[in-house]
Amino acid sequence: MEKTVNANNRPMLNAYPDSLGGTLKDITDFLKKDELTGTFSSFYILPSLYHTDLDRGFSVIDYGLEKSLATKEDLDALRSMGIDLKLDFILNHASVQSPQFKDLLEKGEDSVYKDFFINWNKFWEGKGTMTGEGYIQPDEEYIKDMFFRKPGLPILMVMMPDGKKVPYWNTFYQEVKNTPTGIKYLGQMDLNIKSDLVWEFYDDTLSKIAGYGASIVRLDAFAYAPKEPGLKNFLNEPGTWDLLSKVRTLADKYGLTLLPEIHATYAEKIYETIADKGYMTYDFFLPGLIIDAFENKYGDAIVNWANELIDKKICTVNMLGCHDGIPLLDLKGLIKEEQIQSLIDTVVKRGGYVKDLHGAKNMYYQVNATYYSALGEDDKKMIAARALQLFMPGKPQVWYLDLLAGKNDHEAVKAAGAGGHKEINRTNYSKEMIDKALEKDVVKRQLELLKFRNSFGAFSFDSDIKAKAVGTKINITWKKDEYEAAMELNLENFDLVIIARDKDGEIRV
Ligand code: BGC
Repeated sequence: MEKTVNANNRPMLNAYPDSLGGTLKDITDFLKKDELTGTFSSFYILPSLYHTDLDRGFSVIDYGLEKSLATKEDLDALRSMGIDLKLDFILNHASVQSPQFKDLLEKGEDSVYKDFFINWNKFWEGKGTMTGEGYIQPDEEYIKDMFFRKPGLPILMVMMPDGKKVPYWNTFYQEVKNTPTGIKYLGQMDLNIKSDLVWEFYDDTLSKIAGYGASIVRLDAFAYAPKEPGLKNFLNEPGTWDLLSKVRTLADKYGLTLLPEIHATYAEKIYETIADKGYMTYDFFLPGLIIDAFENKYGDAIVNWANELIDKKICTVNMLGCHDGIPLLDLKGLIKEEQIQSLIDTVVKRGGYVKDLHGAKNMYYQVNATYYSALGEDDKKMIAARALQLFMPGKPQVWYLDLLAGKNDHEAVKAAGAGGHKEINRTNYSKEMIDKALEKDVVKRQLELLKFRNSFGAFSFDSDIKAKAVGTKINITWKKDEYEAAMELNLENFDLVIIARDKDGEIRV
């Protein structure tokens, strides 16, 4: 398939609607500041933009705008500033509080949504043993290959109108609380992609997201959606690819570019399969590769990766930090196991936390820290990392906390309790904190680099890019028409030289 995507490769801000000042209006004001004008062409607004109740946005009640955080006028303001949007479509699950799940809880088998979610016992009927708790324990032969995101079976027991407790499939988070008025439960309930109503919901949702001005749609955790007894139930083949192509048919109607989100080892080459099928793909390798290169003072692994992207014409979105952790699992097969371990040790020594997959040893998933803290809170390294990111092939996504050189937030982790490790890198900034941060040199220099990357003619998805590692130096050059941009980074001392050339001559950026 032709690998052209309908998106620009200019920088993209990434934040929750309440990350910078409190509301999306505050973020539009932030982007209008002199210091910020001309830095971004896109904005990935996290899904707490919608009505949500758990997992800071990834448990969607409905796709209406959360009025306390954002309005249609704010979205229009971004558009009029020339900023397009990347928004989430969370197709694997919906909240317990979604109208569909609420209808099911009220009407049980009489609900039109009775097959909209996955009744665990119906799914495994005849393939396991009913337990005393009322859920089927699938037979080993059917479940031995299944991939689990959390300990135990992925179910939430919910109360039906007849008083019976019934298990529903729940891959991700859940929260069950005893309240004075009874048990309150929240959860991200998996959707049944075999239901026609789910496809009507998908169509409505994509149309709504397009109406908000989205140009890129992030397909959150899409590989968990296809499910069959006996399979891995993560990236089932060919089910996952069939799902993607059906979603694409809908997205095409609304002019949306899809960005499927999946974490898998480099060795599995899933990023390549996704790119071959004509989608944009995430570069989840770069954050770890940069830290590994900086600690070990060698540029070969990054340069090899850059050259692979160039040779295979893969269109990526890349990043340093994001709302999740620094990916680790993804690095398997790209760098040595000892290097991954030493990367984990470095980030943990600097205050980060490792997230394992259901606690299993050697099943590390990501390490949670701010990127600035992961780099040892070293300004020169932060600027070097940003420059490297901006010169890597791809569309650079910029986590607001990295831009502001935010440090690990241990208080937030403590306040969040068990499983709250991601809060280390999700601090909301007040206007005062933003103003203070904008005075820092490490922030000013990143902004300068972003303005250059956002406006200079050398950077485009069809530029001619050359990357090489010479000793402990990394050189990357972009050329398009009469424009050329060249970066040299010295990994011994993090000295950085950036030169821009055009028909009028040469300047140092
Ligand atoms: C998101 C996570 C979220 C999960 C479930 C992921 O891919 O990045 O933050 O918890 O999907 O929606």
